[in-house]
Amino acid sequence: MNEVSHLPSFDNTKVAFAHKSNFQLRKAQWLFRSFNSSFLLNNGAWLSKLTIALGLKGIIKATIFEQFCGGESMQASETAISKLNASGIGTILDYSVEGEESEEAFDQTAVEVMETIIKASQDARIPFSVFKVTGIVSFDLLHAQSEGRELNEAEQIQWERGKARFNSICQMAHEKQVRLFVDAEESWIQDAIDRLTEEAMNLYNQESCIVYNTIQLYRHDRLAYLKEQTEMCSCHLGFKLVRGAYMEKERARALEMGYQSPIQVDKASTDRDYNAAVQWCLEHPRISCCIGTHNEDSSLLAAKWLQEQGEMEGSRVYFSQLLGMSDHISYNLSHSGYNVAKYVPYGPISAVMPYLLRRAQENTSAKGQAGRELSLIEREMKRRKQ
Ligand SMILES: Cc1cc2nc3c(=O)[nH]c(=O)nc-3n(C[C@H](O)[C@H](O)[C@H](O)COP(=O)(O)OP(=O)(O)OC[C@H]3O[C@@H](n4cnc5c(N)ncnc54)[C@H](O)[C@@H]3O)c2cc1C
Repeated sequence: MNEVSHLPSFDNTKVAFAHKSNFQLRKAQWLFRSFNSSFLLNNGAWLSKLTIALGLKGIIKATIFEQFCGGESMQASETAISKLNASGIGTILDYSVEGEESEEAFDQTAVEVMETIIKASQDARIPFSVFKVTGIVSFDLLHAQSEGRELNEAEQIQWERGKARFNSICQMAHEKQVRLFVDAEESWIQDAIDRLTEEAMNLYNQESCIVYNTIQLYRHDRLAYLKEQTEMCSCHLGFKLVRGAYMEKERARALEMGYQSPIQVDKASTDRDYNAAVQWCLEHPRISCCIGTHNEDSSLLAAKWLQEQGEMEGSRVYFSQLLGMSDHISYNLSHSGYNVAKYVPYGPISAVMPYLLRRAQENTSAKGQAGRELSLIEREMKRRKQ
């Protein structure tokens, strides 16, 4: 924790980019500019496959991978971990391999997640671990369980194996006393994820908060769920608050299948519920929370509250952003004395491509993020020249 304690100014680009050399800033500028190229964005998926097939992985590694990922393995993420730590920021190692569907791949992912828990238990720079349930259990089974569809015999065996992996991960976190986030995913599999997580919270959160569920406030029913869980559960509660990453997919599916979309009617409603959820968690001392957002207003709201209540000390409340994004929030919050940890995704380049392409999509000018990241980088470049 840093010594200075005041409200953060997210305009301070000197603090935000102190960890980047001039060369690194120029590279980031080039990268965020290239996200505005519709050709690159529309063709990113096959271009990246071609680049890898041609043995030119180095190009991806030196550009988009370096911006958003820690390394190809946990060990290779060491530079990212120590760089963040030098600014008082923690690391959350996120094994970001996606799209594998075999039992062997699920087993292997579970082992890797447990390795991150062991690493976190031995390394004070890593305050949390995290995993996605679809990395260890089949999407279709989570869907069947969420819908209440009966499983056949083979599916039942697979489901039991998935549940065992889930439990081994949570049990390991409890044994090693490492706090663990369970990421939230699509609404049609989230009920099953919630049931698994609620059971684990009940089991492992009796003495302290170990397992955290994730609440997506772009869903109109989730603020009520958060309140209901607070009232129903007597154990320690942990929640990671996010707006939600699957909005287009959720809306398209609801439209196609003719049911009411679970997504809020507009952005203002998502913002309203997100801030209400932040307020709710802060006002309930039994809840530990992670404010997972790149939104300045929500971050400031929580920072103000913590300052006013004199709750800057302690580790009940953390702020979190993704590596390579919103450094102006992470570094300025940390500089002002708040708890901050960044998700540091890692994994073999070809396997983390879906994650990288999502980051690229999210940073187009159409979504507004690239404009902000780019203008902050350019402001800092200008400031350094003066
Ligand atoms: C540390 C961390 C962990 C995360 N973990 C998860 C996770 O487990 N599961 C997950 O789904 N996502 C996760 N995310 C992603 C997150 O849900 C958001 O997609 C992302 O952070 C952008 O939202 P924001 O709060 O940062 O900022 P903002 O830019 O203020 O909000 C953008 C978000 O607002 C919502 N939104 C935008 N337009 C509308 C609209 N018209 N109507 C309604 N809502 C709208 C969408 O959720 C959109 O992503 C995580 C993000 C971070 C930083």
